Formats: sequence, C-alpha cells, structure tokens
Amino acid sequence: MHTDSDRFLITPSEKSLRDLRAQDFILVDSNGQAVRGVIDSNRKPSIETRLHLKIYEARNDVASVIHSHPIHVIIYSYLDKPLPFLELLGKTRSIPIIPYYPPGSYKLANEVAKQIRFNDAVILKKHGLVTVGKTINDAYELIEALEKNAHIRISVQQLFGSSKDSV
Ligand SMILES: [Zn+2]
Repeated sequence: MHTDSDRFLITPSEKSLRDLRAQDFILVDSNGQAVRGVIDSNRKPSIETRLHLKIYEARNDVASVIHSHPIHVIIYSYLDKPLPFLELLGKTRSIPIIPYYPPGSYKLANEVAKQIRFNDAVILKKHGLVTVGKTINDAYELIEALEKNAHIRISVQQLFGSSKDSV
C-alpha cells in the first residue's frame, strides 16, 4: 500500500495473510529497503516487494497492489489465454496473462509492470494474480470478481466441453 510519502507498506514474507495484524506490515522506501518494521532476520519484506514497487512506479494513480493466488484463476491460467471479464456496465475486457517467471524475479516484476499500465489486473501463468486499485477494497473486489469469473468458465468447460465458445 502506497502511503502519502514515498513509503510503501508491504506484507512480511512467509507469513499467512490470515494471521496478519496491522503491526506486521513493513514500511519500505522506493528501493525496497525497510525503514520500519523489521525486527529480526526472520521478518523480511515479501519476496515480491520488487514487483509491488515496479507497479507503483508504473501506476501513480493507484494506492493498493494485491498479489494473490486464487485457485480458479491459476487453473484458468494453464489455458494460456486472456480471461474475458464482463464488467458491471456490460463492457467486456480481457485480463492479460503473462508467461511463467520465477516468483521474486526481475523478469516477473518487469513483465507485470508492463501490462499493469493498461489493466487493473494481470494473470501470472501457473502462479496467481495481481490487482490494483485506489483502495485495498477496490483491488480485493477485483480478485473476487475474477476468481468467480474463472470458476464459472472452468465449470462451464467441464460440463459442456472445450467447444463451448464462452470459455
Ligand atoms: Zn506469488
């Protein structure tokens, strides 16, 4: 999460998001250096800190970035094609998918940053999803909507086969 100055709140690595408390977040500068919140070597900023910072650099209109691993979006990503997404106003847009790159890598951060310029969501093949928003809620709601969308598309394909053109 982008704070008012050039500081970002990042989740700690290897900690379940379910158990996260406000004091667990780590404040980093634009180089990913922790400025507050690291208390020992077991508590470090997420390995995807670089990814988050690259996105904030590419999109100064967003204040929240969420990287998640929604199960149906990941399954859908094996199809290797953009996820069509019907928005509330009836407009369809396609959520782009990028090839697989190792978690925490420069390549992953750069590819996501490239795509996120034009989209509020990017699918990471065989890995997960990145969404952005003006608030955490916006970014979170987008995860829910895309996960539901991917779930429906996968289920339709299972029931009716891959010839179904809506999948
Ligand atoms: Zn991940």
